[in-house]
Parts: sequence; C-alpha cells; structure tokens
Amino acid sequence: METTKGAQILDSWLARLNRGVLIVVSGPSGAGKGTLCRALLEKEADIMLSISATTRAPRSGEIDGVHYFFLEKKEFIQKINANSFLEWAQVYDNYYGTPREKVEEYLSQGKNVLLEIDIQGALQVKKHYEEAALIFIAPPSLEELAKRIYGRGTDSTEVIQKRLRLASEELEYIDKYDYCIINDEVEKATERLRAIVAAERSRIYRF
Ligand code: 5GP
Repeated sequence: METTKGAQILDSWLARLNRGVLIVVSGPSGAGKGTLCRALLEKEADIMLSISATTRAPRSGEIDGVHYFFLEKKEFIQKINANSFLEWAQVYDNYYGTPREKVEEYLSQGKNVLLEIDIQGALQVKKHYEEAALIFIAPPSLEELAKRIYGRGTDSTEVIQKRLRLASEELEYIDKYDYCIINDEVEKATERLRAIVAAERSRIYRF
C-alpha cells in the first residue's frame, strides 16, 4: 500500500475517533448512578458533566450552577419554548432538562460529555444522537434498592414509595439501552463504567 494513502486513511480515522462521546447514564433512584458518575468524573479528567436545569427545590448542600440550575416553573417553560433543552422530562412532580448549548459546544470541541438523566430523557437523546452510549445502572435487587433509598434519609416516606414504584417500571426499559451495569459493589461497577467509556472512545463506527 502506498504510504500516502495509508496516512490519509489513518488521518480520517483519527479524526473520527477524536470526536467526543456522549455518555448517558440512567437508572432507578437509589441504584447508585450519582455515585458511579462522580467516581467516573474523578478518574477520567476528559469527561465533562452536563449540569441539568430543574424546577425541584435544592436539597440541603446543593448549589445552584453546580448540582443543578434551579429554575422557577415559568422560566423552565420559557426555555422549553425557546428550544433551549436537548431533552427535558417531568420526573416525579418536577421538570428536569439538559441545557442544549453546552453539550453541543463540548461535543463539537471533541470533548466527552456525561449526562445523568432519567429514562424518558435518555430515549429522547438517542433519537437525536444515535451514536450516544446509553448506560443503565441497575440495583442487584429491589430489596437492596429499597434499603438504599430509606438509608439515604433525604426524602419523605411518600416520595420514597413513589420512587420505588417508579423503579420497577423503569427496569422494563433496560433493553432500550446499549449497556447495563449491575451496581453490586461501587468499585467494581465504576471499573465497568470506565471500561465501557474506554471502548466507546475506540469504537470505529458510532452509527
Ligand atoms: P433528583 O431529584 O434525585 O436529583 O433527580 C431525579 C431524577 O431526575 C433522576 O433520575 C435524575 O437522573 C433525573 N434527571 C436529572 N437531571 C435530568 C435532566 O436533565 N433530564 C432528565 N430527563 N432527567 C434528569
């Protein structure tokens, strides 16, 4: 093979492989997706976290612009109408959405972007970005899930019951995802998540 042709081929593949990967993580409340995402971000410096907007009230210790952009319902609806969200959904009794601009900016700069969003949102993302890697974080059992949600102590019993009901429904969507990680032990699950991201970065065809 001519060396110039080889160099051209390699250059074109390098350009493709240098594109950012859109990583979407979801799963039932209490499955540990937040913990796994934080661990991933700590270990992989080249992954940017997308900060969502929400109409939910901040929990103790949550900071506007760091954990979420906390918006009034009216502001949120204005942003929906202005097409400012890549995806949005109503989860429990609140709205949540991914601000579009930042994600598109990161991807166009070749940066990897992590979205930690609910299932409705993940499926919307997949419609627009077929190449997105959808990763479902599942608990080892529903009993373990209940234990974790009660142990967290951040929500009322009514909210917890609602979350548990929703969790069983959410498990039906595993087959819409590209990957599923059973979060039995945080360290092992984190390593599986890192391995998936590493594989996605080296994937030749992302659709
Ligand atoms: P929490 O209120 O516990 O922070 O989040 C509740 C649920 O909303 C979680 O499943 C979380 O992944 C999801 N969520 C957070 N941000 C977004 C978002 O931007 N879009 C969507 N669709 N879901 C989100």
